[in-house]
Amino acid sequence: MKTGTTTGKALVGGRWHTAAETFAVTNPATGETVAEVADCGPDVTAEAVDAAASALPGWRAMPAHERAAIMRRAAALLAERAPEIGATLTAEQGKPLGEAVGEVVAGADHLLWSAEETRRVYGETIPSTSADTRIMVLPEPVGVVAGITPWNFPVSMVTRKLGPALAAGCTVVLKPSELTPMSAIAVAACLADAGFPPGVFNLVTTTRPQEFSEVVMADPRVRKISFTGSTAVGKNLIRQSADDVKRLSVELGGHAPVLVFPDADVAAAAAGVARAKFMNAGQACTSPNRIYVHESVAEEFTAELARLADAIVVGDGSAADVTMGPLINERAVAKVRRHVEDALALGARQVTAREPGGEAGGGPGGRFHPPTVLAGVTDDMLVCQEETFGPLAPVLTFGGDTRDAEDDVVARANTTPYGLAAYVWTRDLARVVRVSEALRFGILSINGAPLAPPQGPFGGVKGSGYGREGGHHGVEDFVEHKYVSVGLG
Ligand code: NAD
Repeated sequence: MKTGTTTGKALVGGRWHTAAETFAVTNPATGETVAEVADCGPDVTAEAVDAAASALPGWRAMPAHERAAIMRRAAALLAERAPEIGATLTAEQGKPLGEAVGEVVAGADHLLWSAEETRRVYGETIPSTSADTRIMVLPEPVGVVAGITPWNFPVSMVTRKLGPALAAGCTVVLKPSELTPMSAIAVAACLADAGFPPGVFNLVTTTRPQEFSEVVMADPRVRKISFTGSTAVGKNLIRQSADDVKRLSVELGGHAPVLVFPDADVAAAAAGVARAKFMNAGQACTSPNRIYVHESVAEEFTAELARLADAIVVGDGSAADVTMGPLINERAVAKVRRHVEDALALGARQVTAREPGGEAGGGPGGRFHPPTVLAGVTDDMLVCQEETFGPLAPVLTFGGDTRDAEDDVVARANTTPYGLAAYVWTRDLARVVRVSEALRFGILSINGAPLAPPQGPFGGVKGSGYGREGGHHGVEDFVEHKYVSVGLG
């Protein structure tokens, strides 16, 4: 282990756990090792499932007000520690410190919202068909939940799963991404310090995700898997879950379209698209991947988007003036470069000033790519088929001012196997309604409104998965409704 690195441990049954093996966590901006973390084998996952199963009866029986109080304490600790946890997040994931601290605060807000929702997991009584029977519907936690989270939002992805699961009365075994385990460990420390009973929340750090999923899939006490990550892994988990008929929520990849109509506030649209696109260096499942702009405003929009992209300061996210960090690894940079090269070869035009590319694009270590805007992009290009997951904004155009033209661009936007987020910019109210109804996506942002507040049901359709996180819908995903028909004799 290098001097200056910290040690990350798993949390199982309320105890911090080391392992014989450790793995290094690397700062993507510098290539330095920032932590050595316990590389847990399947025995630790099995122990964590035992702990979660043992803690379940006590946690689900605890009055909702008491569970809510513990969750509120955890949320408060997370918010209080946001500056330190944000620094940890930046060190292992790369995003600028301001974005990282913002993510921790948003994560705390999710926990707090779930804490409040704990007190509103209601049952029902239903009118019966006879005078001497009654019908009750009792909400019950699904049971032990296994969560698997990605590296791009390593705090908020954890709290978005934990919050609703704990609110419903479930206990949890969570495996964070091996690229960003320290953020999840910091969240786990908040929960441990808030006084959660041992075993209610368990964190297993490992570089062998497949072994983790084999254990949780094979154990009949695990009743639900909640996964966020790539579509390829999600599909595998769906297949594996069939044997034990487990419940699943899968939040998968995306390929978000943006529609900018001629009546939009063009400057606001460019600013909104720049925010959504370059946040987290484009490494978001909701990141715009096809920007359809009406030809009458395309020049103005593209120039403004390029101006905003060129003003972004790329570098180590821990530096105060940096507004975009590195990508997670060299493979991610190579993918952006492939999409740029393919588009340029097929006739697209680079609008931003900085040369696209890896190291040449600015910054040390080969993990940086400058924010890049391309004009003249067409639907057949690679960037319009694959999720880029990087800071590349491809601008396509559409023409006409008829309803057919509107239907046509919506059809182009819908031509994707994904269905997570879509963005629309227009000041025509009737168009907002028509287009909102016609777009086949789980989440729509109209005129730049935010996509992921805790009270909103976040999630996709089609290849972007199923299940919702956030809102009372998110808690519902962890609840079974038991129907009790009572004969009064
Ligand atoms: P990934 O699928 O490679 O990894 C996600 C998690 O799955 C990690 O914890 C990883 O260790 C684990 N994993 C990998 N192989 C596994 C296996 N065989 N069995 C069980 N677990 C396994 O995805 P990633 O690269 O970390 O994240 C990026 C992807 O996540 C993108 O496609 C992005 O769109 C998607 N994402 C979706 C949402 C959403 O809400 N829809 C949010 C964030 C990210």
